[in-house]
Amino acid sequence: MRVPWLEKEAIARQAERLIADYRAVIGERVTPPIPVEDVIERFLGLDLTYQNLDEKLGMDDVLGATYVRAKRIAINRKLLEDKNEGRLVFTCAHEVGHWVLHRHLVEEAARAERVKEAIVCRAKNAREPAEWQADYFASCLLMPVREMKEAFSMVCPSGRLVLDNVKSALGGTGVCIDPCLENWHFIAEMVREGGGFTNVSKEAVAFRMEELGLLINRTDSHIGW
Ligand SMILES: [Zn+2]
Repeated sequence: MRVPWLEKEAIARQAERLIADYRAVIGERVTPPIPVEDVIERFLGLDLTYQNLDEKLGMDDVLGATYVRAKRIAINRKLLEDKNEGRLVFTCAHEVGHWVLHRHLVEEAARAERVKEAIVCRAKNAREPAEWQADYFASCLLMPVREMKEAFSMVCPSGRLVLDNVKSALGGTGVCIDPCLENWHFIAEMVREGGGFTNVSKEAVAFRMEELGLLINRTDSHIGW
């Protein structure tokens, strides 16, 4: 699907607005873990289903799909069976991203009979603009910037952590975690727990920390998983 360019700030504002509107409906403060299934069903009024999308769509790498006219979000049942909550929840939030950011484009295209009214999300298309935008929205929705910075400051009071080395320079196993690249998962886990981002993967937390400039990787290697 072709989508117009959107600035990150604009996507983040849409995610923040969704949380604020959801909060107004449920009448209480919304804090991580963000209950994205409740957002989908109770707030957005969409049908959330888990289906064998490989079989239904005849493709083997479908994560989820958003059916605009039917007001339905379908998640590939194998994500449920894998028991990988982080991936499952992120996919739900990603589909919410399509619903918020892109459904008007699908409606316009469907009226002109140019495309079908479904957005199908495949792993191999992750770098396409529409998919990237939905991923970024999901990240903003599940890990709001304020809560993320608060959690990070509990782990690192200076407000940012620079990774200069891939390997630990300290050696051994001390009580302190050396802020090197190979320890990314310890750092991410502390922030994940501290912020209550319990339905998000460590990988997503690490990526969000980098995105917000909290974790700065100055090595030539990528944070890997
Ligand atoms: Zn998608």
